[in-house]
Amino acid sequence: MHPVVDQQKTWFQKGHTKSYEFRRKQLERLKKMLITFEKPILDALKFDLNKSEYEAYASELAFLKSEIHHQMKDLKKLMRPEKVKAPLTHTGSKNYIYKEPYGTVLVIAPWNYPVQLALAPVIGAVAAGNTVIIKPSELTPTVSWVIKKMIEQYFPPEYIAVLEGDKEVTQQLLDSPLDYVFFTGSVPVGKIVMEQAGKRLIPVTLELGGKSPAIVHKDAKLDLAAKRIVWGKYTNAGQTCIAPDYLFVHQDVKEELIAKIQHYTAEFYGNAPLENPDYVKIVNDKHFDRIKGYLNDGTTLSGGAFDSVRRKIEPTLLDDVSWDDSVMQDEIFGPVLPILTYENLDEAIEQITDRPKPLALYYFGESEENQEKVIQSVGFGGGCINDTLYHILNPYLPFGGVGESGIGSYHGKYSFDTFTHHKSITKQSTKFDQNFRYPGSEVGLKIIKRIFG
Ligand code: NAD
Repeated sequence: MHPVVDQQKTWFQKGHTKSYEFRRKQLERLKKMLITFEKPILDALKFDLNKSEYEAYASELAFLKSEIHHQMKDLKKLMRPEKVKAPLTHTGSKNYIYKEPYGTVLVIAPWNYPVQLALAPVIGAVAAGNTVIIKPSELTPTVSWVIKKMIEQYFPPEYIAVLEGDKEVTQQLLDSPLDYVFFTGSVPVGKIVMEQAGKRLIPVTLELGGKSPAIVHKDAKLDLAAKRIVWGKYTNAGQTCIAPDYLFVHQDVKEELIAKIQHYTAEFYGNAPLENPDYVKIVNDKHFDRIKGYLNDGTTLSGGAFDSVRRKIEPTLLDDVSWDDSVMQDEIFGPVLPILTYENLDEAIEQITDRPKPLALYYFGESEENQEKVIQSVGFGGGCINDTLYHILNPYLPFGGVGESGIGSYHGKYSFDTFTHHKSITKQSTKFDQNFRYPGSEVGLKIIKRIFG
């Protein structure tokens, strides 16, 4: 067993994490830690990804603070055993769901929102009474270092520990008897993690990615659609798991939509985005070269320039793209937006449903009938009607994928539930006994037939 897992499991067994008071205090400590380390966090995000203070604060720190607030607000209620109803056969008994922490949880994080995605699951795991090991991404090493420093300053390693490094570290940890694994990252690595966890029957949540479409129908309010698509696509230079991956637009409104997308791109990032000091860079050379390769597909309508030294790629619109092009094979995860066109909505729906279920889907259009048609006929993790990304910011909505885009969900109450085993308990009466269930009961069969029909 990995020594940290051993240490945490022993500490957990002693019951330190169980009480409401303890959990609440740790959530407060997490909040205090984020306030104390605000500047190092923002500096590290600037250094590793060139995130502006505004983008870093809004998408990483504000998100975490909201998550802590929601866990604290509902914690007492969530922890309480839940009384449930019982059928006639259980007359006299009381039935409950007890909320039991799993034990020692491993959180494996990616690099694109490296603070938010490492710590949001931790908030849920702490609220649910677990100990946690965090494995931040090695691709954002400055952020990883800051996460380690701040956790070490605020929490003992037998409760929350940070182990830095690459896949070797993760694999060693997965060889230990962990009680839960929460993984955020790519589909191929998700499969490896699940396979390894499966050997020990360790339950997993997999927060993965995929190709999330933005469909724009002919009755959409095009100006708003363009503005919200540009925001969702180019935030973090497209390195967002739920960014619109490609545009699927009705042919009648294509030209107008493209003009508006170009307008808002210039408004948000200027006419020379590569020179914009707040425009996010691509995380490393490997991803930079991969995304640059997509620029050879289709016809570039706007953007297309790049800066190899600063690893920046302009917000780019690609037309004349087909499903066979390389840009349509895997998740783009960069500031390149390919455009597909359709004549009727059913045809677009069919093409999407022929492929793996995306993590997100965005539909722009005024007809409620068509909105419902899209929601109910396409399988996807979650999404928005007439917006992008916004569903993830509502703590009352579970966030997660389905099929190839993931297993399980979290945020708000759903995080608490994810890191909690729901233990069913029947407290039986000893005041009387119902004999019909015992062998030899003369009326047993009759009663069971009457109850169950
Ligand atoms: P990744 O899968 O390469 O790495 C994620 C983590 O897994 C890292 O900590 C890495 O060290 C570890 N890892 C890598 N190889 C491993 C292996 N063989 N065994 C065990 N662990 C291993 O993902 P990434 O490049 O960091 O992140 C980008 C991907 O994450 C995209 O596909 C994106 O869609 C997805 N993502 C999903 C969400 C979500 O919430 N659903 C959020 C952000 C990113």
